[in-house]
Amino acid sequence: MNVYLPGSLSELWSRQEECGMAQFFAGGTDLFVKLRASAQYPRALIGLEAVRELRSIEEREGAIFVGAGASHTRLLSHPLIQAHFPLLAKALRVLGSPPVRNMGTIGGNICTASPAGDALPPLYALGAEVELRRRDRSRRLPIHEFILGPGKTALAENELLYGVWLKKDDSPALFHFEKVGPRKALAIAIASFAALINSTDAGIVKKARFAWGSVGPVVVTSREAEESLVGFPLTRESLQRIVPIVDKIVSPIDDVRASASYRRALAGNLVLRLAEYGPREMGGKGEGLTRT
Ligand SMILES: Cc1cc2nc3c(=O)[nH]c(=O)nc-3n(C[C@H](O)[C@H](O)[C@H](O)COP(=O)(O)OP(=O)(O)OC[C@H]3O[C@@H](n4cnc5c(N)ncnc54)[C@H](O)[C@@H]3O)c2cc1C
Repeated sequence: MNVYLPGSLSELWSRQEECGMAQFFAGGTDLFVKLRASAQYPRALIGLEAVRELRSIEEREGAIFVGAGASHTRLLSHPLIQAHFPLLAKALRVLGSPPVRNMGTIGGNICTASPAGDALPPLYALGAEVELRRRDRSRRLPIHEFILGPGKTALAENELLYGVWLKKDDSPALFHFEKVGPRKALAIAIASFAALINSTDAGIVKKARFAWGSVGPVVVTSREAEESLVGFPLTRESLQRIVPIVDKIVSPIDDVRASASYRRALAGNLVLRLAEYGPREMGGKGEGLTRT
């Protein structure tokens, strides 16, 4: 097996043409575990670590572009992510351990398409788009159209995840990410929940975005749940109206980490817990955040 480490996209396309079917790897924290377990190796591996175009995190066309090769650690310390997407930072802070965050990338987390991927619920709640590239073509898709099922994406043959586009929305918002695992650290989510809430000065919800991880084959979202909170304060009573909706939309499985019924109960309880948190625990972005 040959391993290539191109330094630029043009070199990457040339390597890809040379070796035919090659598999990409970024940090290798998912892929190498899988390859070792299956003992089936591709003919060639192309590493993305040195491809400079995949490392950029910058403001472009009024949005923030995050290269697929940006590591979780780099995202966590980047001022643009801290300023505009603290929801994503909150999730990345509990992804794996420091070595996993140093090696692992946002692109790898998305392409792995695990229902338990920690970056995914925030990316869905933030309305992220992914940019895919081949030598001769580039296309953009909303993240929910890219992830098709556990381990399944819309990546075509020879296509690369180039990066993620995040719209800036600097209106005041409360944000929250919580994952429940078998233990506090280094835990794969049994269930996770991301929330982004804009409210009036009086604490009445104007807009809500919710996304649940690990309770279905892909991240679960629900316009019905989000809209049912609009016009109400962020109290346990208002949040209670979402619970039956959550019960309807999730489709968890039993596995070694938890039973489906436990996951189903968690998905609703994570919503109710929003009422227990103040802006400090949830995280408040912008001035004038109030709650009832
Ligand atoms: C000990 C340990 C703990 C972990 N804990 C967590 C956790 O708590 N939460 C969590 O979400 N994950 C966790 N993971 C999983 C993993 O670390 C993350 O999913 C990470 O983000 C994967 O990124 P990577 O760059 O290492 O991906 P890689 O392993 O390099 O790649 C993963 C897959 O994506 C493909 N790929 C990668 N980049 C691209 C690209 N740009 N274009 C096309 N295809 C691409 C690869 O071909 C491969 O199929 C853990 C892993 C380990 C080993």
